[in-house]
Amino acid sequence: MKISCHVIRDLLPLYAEDMASQDTRDLVEEHIVYCENCKKQLEEMRTVEAPPVDTDIAPLRNIQQTLRRKKLQTILFSVMVTLVLAVVTIAYLTTPAYIPYNEDAVSIIEKDDGTVLLNFSEEVAGYNVTEYPKEDDSGSVYDITTWETIWDQNISQSNLENTVLNPNGETVDAIYYYNTDGSEDTLIYGDSVTDGSVVTLPRLVLSYYLLFAIAFSLICGIGWILFRKNEKIRSGLEKVILLPISYVLAHFLIKGLHPSTYLAGRDVYLILLVAISLYFALLAGRNILKKSLKSA
Ligand SMILES: [Zn+2]
Repeated sequence: MKISCHVIRDLLPLYAEDMASQDTRDLVEEHIVYCENCKKQLEEMRTVEAPPVDTDIAPLRNIQQTLRRKKLQTILFSVMVTLVLAVVTIAYLTTPAYIPYNEDAVSIIEKDDGTVLLNFSEEVAGYNVTEYPKEDDSGSVYDITTWETIWDQNISQSNLENTVLNPNGETVDAIYYYNTDGSEDTLIYGDSVTDGSVVTLPRLVLSYYLLFAIAFSLICGIGWILFRKNEKIRSGLEKVILLPISYVLAHFLIKGLHPSTYLAGRDVYLILLVAISLYFALLAGRNILKKSLKSA
């Protein structure tokens, strides 16, 4: 029986989709052996990209995206927590333990050309020098102190070289050694610049920053309570409030309960480093928590 091309064309879609019965398949196959036209038609049908079986894969994509984001948040969280721990550990190991004045800690060497050298003993891991002009501007007065650190004692001892106190040839009127326990400064070189005693006080700048951060958290907290029903404002406030909270936590991690400092620069730098890492850790933690709560 010779089957017409019309019949074959009707059957081709079924054949192409593998939905034809064996008899139909035989018919089609027999026909396309000699009919180039129908063979071509079939090839065209097969090369046309099959439409996606299930177009409803958007939810799957969302899940994949959520998983990827959650993974990124987890990585961010871990990296930042590690950073916080590392900085806090290093800060702890290098916290200055101030050395009360003793003649061994630092000695003064006066040279013929007017330069004054500081010579530190082995136990000294670091020192600080503050210079200020004498009242009548005839020369400079220096406040110095020294400290040791756990790092220096146990891990790697630094060798402080002799330090020139007046590299630009300033006149050194007096050098005071200050103790950080509130006791009087000790005149270790030159003539006393005051009649009475001098006590070098720590700087309070960190207390101001701390108070500001606490006040800022409180304001954000009140805003959060007032606007808790507005999803957008609440979410924004949650992100903002984490900043001062990070700062306050960082302050306690670096300084403990001491708000005053003799080394404001070092302390501010370390606190900011910890605060920023902590902020991103908290932000990632908040996002992870939120997603877990949502999917639960
Ligand atoms: Zn044909």
